[in-house]
Order: sequence, then structure tokens, then C-alpha cells
Amino acid sequence: MATPIGNLGDISHRALEVLGRVDAVAAEDTRVTRQLLAHFGIAKRLIAVHEHNEKRVAKQVLALLAEGRSLALTCDAGTPAISDPGALLVAAARRAGFPVTPVPGPNAAIAALSASGLAAPHFLFYGFLPERTAARRRALAPLAKLPFTLVFFEAPHRVVESIADLRAALGGERRVVLARELTKLFETVHDCPLAEAEAWLAADPHRRKGEFVLIVEGAAGMPEAEDAGRRALEVLLAELPLKQAVALAAKIGGGGRKELYRMALELKRREP
Ligand code: SAM
Repeated sequence: MATPIGNLGDISHRALEVLGRVDAVAAEDTRVTRQLLAHFGIAKRLIAVHEHNEKRVAKQVLALLAEGRSLALTCDAGTPAISDPGALLVAAARRAGFPVTPVPGPNAAIAALSASGLAAPHFLFYGFLPERTAARRRALAPLAKLPFTLVFFEAPHRVVESIADLRAALGGERRVVLARELTKLFETVHDCPLAEAEAWLAADPHRRKGEFVLIVEGAAGMPEAEDAGRRALEVLLAELPLKQAVALAAKIGGGGRKELYRMALELKRREP
């Protein structure tokens, strides 16, 4: 179940009702969840489930479920199993035939996206980039041409390096939204071209503190292959029958035949 990413007012009625009703809570860090429960006057048995013990805890949880007990799963903040432990436990419960019900609520990526103004029709949630520079640059290369808004999680001690690598890999003109400390006292949502983001971070050390979601505008327009295919199609259609023009345009420019066929019909329709 989802829990707040900062502002405790974001807990849902349903989350509180479920937390009050279950027999135990499997929590990423029992101290964090105990504090949350205490704030709402709930006392519960807590079972620690983190990336190093998830397999073992899954057995314990399955045994409790088999006894007819009910459990909630929480992470320290936000939605479990989203760049957080939980997926393995959920899969084990499902495989064993126990129902798993989501209790939706806060998630840092979606919160940032909703305030970014960059929520294009499609977005790619990447989560954390690799920590090491070389691996991070390798990971970024295939993202450069994707026409989707890109959403990253980042830690404060890596945000400057990651921004520099994002600029190098994706180009300085794209817009980036740095969403920091969402729902907390020092919440900041700053929007600028990637080329200006390093200077913005450098201007005030406070801007480099806290938890970040980085949202970057996707590559503009159509994928390159489709674009080249369209250009070829426009020339060929003037000289050849439609079917032949589509086949040749696909060979020259790449791109899917079905899409080129659709474009060809559209171009023909627009002919005077
Ligand atoms: N499962 C969580 C969720 O649903 O939001 C995400 C957990 S992930 C381990 C933690 C990362 O989420 C942080 O490093 C940061 O990138 C992002 N994050 C969490 N809380 C945030 C907040 N209040 N403001 C901005 N980013 C946040």
C-alpha cells in the first residue's frame, strides 16, 4: 500500500482503514513504518522486508497468509515495489494463490510528472540511473532518440553528475524539470533547458539537497526512420503507383510499411 512521500496528510482513508484492520505489516524499514503508524494511533506487528531478506521473508509471510492472516506491505515512502522492495513478495503471494490488492496513493514519479507540465501522451519511467559514471552514460545512450518524456529518480549526491550526463547524452535544448522534496517544506519544482540546469544547481547549495525526480522532455517529433520514410514517400508517390512507392520508401527510409501505407493514403487524399 502507498504511504506519503513527505506530507502525512497524503495518506488515504483507505490506507488507514486497511492498516488498522490487517494482522501485520511487512515494512521496508520497521522504524519508519512504526513512526507512521504511531502518528495515526495504530499499533501493529511489523515484519522487516528489504532487498536482502525478501526471499526469506516471503516464506514467513506465506505461512501467515496460509493461517488466514492478512498483511499490508509498505515501503519507507510512496508505493512499494516501485524502485523499492516488494515485487518478489507480491509475486510469491500471487503464485501461492493469495489475492493481492493495491491500495494506491503517493508516488514520487507521478507526483513530479503531474506538476512538470511535460506529461506528454507517453512517458518512460526509468527509475534510478546506474551509480557509476560509465554505466550511467551507457544507459543514457539508447534513451536519446525516444520520443517519450523521461522520468528518473536521483539521490542528492549524484544529481549534479547525472544532470551533466543527461545534457551530454540528450542535448542542452531539451527542457528538464527538477522536482525536489515534493510535498515537503522545501518543495521545489524548477523548469529550465538542460543546458541551464547545472548553473541553477550550482547557484545555491540548498538546491542540491533532498530527494529528486528529474523529468526530461522526449526527443522531438517522429522517430528518425519514420521521418526519412515519409520524405522518400512524398517523392516516390509523385512518380509511382502507391503500393510500389510504399515498398520502396520502406526500403530507403526504414519505418513500418503499415504506417507508410497509412501516410501514403493520407498524402493521396490531400492531392489536389
Ligand atoms: N517507491 C517510491 C515511490 O513510490 O515514490 C520511490 C522510492 S525510491 C527508493 C526513492 C526515490 O524516489 C528518491 O531517491 C527520489 O528520487 C524519489 N523521491 C521520493 N520521495 C520524494 C520526494 N518527496 N520528492 C522528490 N523525489 C522523491
